[in-house]
Amino acid sequence: MDVPFTIYHHGARDGVTGSCHELTLANGRGLLVDIGLFQGAETASDGAHAGVQTVDFPIGHIDALILTHCHIDHVGRLPWLLTAGFRGPIYCTRATALLLPMVIEDALKVGVTHNRGLIDAVLNTVKRLLVPVDYDQWTELSSPALKLRFRQAGHILGSAYVELDLNSGERVVFSGDLGCKNSPLLPDPTPLERADVLVLESTYGDRNHENRAQRQQRLRAVIEHCVSDRGTVLIPAFSIGRTQELLYELEDIIHQCRGDKLAEGLRWSDMVVILDSPMAAQFTKEYRAMRDLWDAEAKQRLSDNRHPLNFERLHVVNTHAEHQRIINYLKQSGDPCIVIAASGMCTGGRMMNYLKALLPDPRTDVLFVGYQAEGTPGRAIQAYGPRGGYVDLDDERVWIKAEIHTLGGYSAHADQQELIEFVRGADYVNDIRLVHGDEKAKHALAATLSDYQVSEKV
Ligand SMILES: [Zn+2]
Ligand SMILES: [Zn+2]
Repeated sequence: MDVPFTIYHHGARDGVTGSCHELTLANGRGLLVDIGLFQGAETASDGAHAGVQTVDFPIGHIDALILTHCHIDHVGRLPWLLTAGFRGPIYCTRATALLLPMVIEDALKVGVTHNRGLIDAVLNTVKRLLVPVDYDQWTELSSPALKLRFRQAGHILGSAYVELDLNSGERVVFSGDLGCKNSPLLPDPTPLERADVLVLESTYGDRNHENRAQRQQRLRAVIEHCVSDRGTVLIPAFSIGRTQELLYELEDIIHQCRGDKLAEGLRWSDMVVILDSPMAAQFTKEYRAMRDLWDAEAKQRLSDNRHPLNFERLHVVNTHAEHQRIINYLKQSGDPCIVIAASGMCTGGRMMNYLKALLPDPRTDVLFVGYQAEGTPGRAIQAYGPRGGYVDLDDERVWIKAEIHTLGGYSAHADQQELIEFVRGADYVNDIRLVHGDEKAKHALAATLSDYQVSEKV
């Protein structure tokens, strides 16, 4: 019997980064789902993708690219795909199409070039190839011949899992990154109908998140603890998704507790929140503009005359000079304030300067709210900070006197329970391939789904 399709994985097979999967039909034509950048340990000199961000597989038969969402580990190798000659349509949701050029511009500036002409040329090509598609609408592709549909993944604005219905009758589903239920701003993931093959992310396949219902109270409590000795609360956060969730919850805490005492001589209503990440600020603006995609609670706040992503005590830092001034001021004054900056895993961005200046200060608190991949400075700070160790940032050894906290329940990824519910809620799932997780996570998830046909190694 002819096998009607084959799936290859060009990333996110042994780790969580570099997502890129290929579906090729029996006639030899194929498509890619995501084209992400490798990050952290996976690009280290001894890692599986040492220092390279290449498209090292044949693409002559690839007729289309589908993007599940615009996180860098899902779209960051797009410039390399274009360099390799890809000029097919790029299907994604409307919100992803709007956010994508900013992500690609940043990826180019960080990893490739600052040449404006080159950047514009890449962006123009990307914009020309984009085909925005609404959620829940079937779209016909002529090559490879199949239908696709984006479903709400609830992970970041515009995120989707994608269903591909082949003419031979099979349905192949790529989960992309699945979000949690009850995420601020975002609708819950749409339940899965069915899948002959499900390519499933497994980031938190071995863990359940702390109770999310109480996470806002825990955020409040941890901030109150942090500012009791004054000093800065540093929150490294992804520019897209996490930053907006945090702003949304901080606005709510400040709104609910405005008269309450936060620390000696300080009320919650005096608390300044600094957003120091040009990318995050730009994305926050886009998030505000796309309020039609928000969930009901967020829309309600708007009609109550609140501004969940643009409140009074929020200060957005634009220029590099102001960024430097603020760091110097915080270093000397120790005035309590919250700083949100990228990158989420402390691999670059303006957060680096804050860490270098403020990690040696015992008044500082670092609050991790997201997954810290192996080999990233974020993981090192998390591991060695509490033992009074150090971290190397841009070849500079920085000793850690700051207090380090990790707040669970903030992940933008479904936990083990939610992944299992996603699978078990479907009418049928014949074959599951686990990607986007480390070995331990995949193994634990496979064990809990042992009544299905599950591949841990793809
Ligand atoms: Zn993601
Ligand atoms: Zn991802």
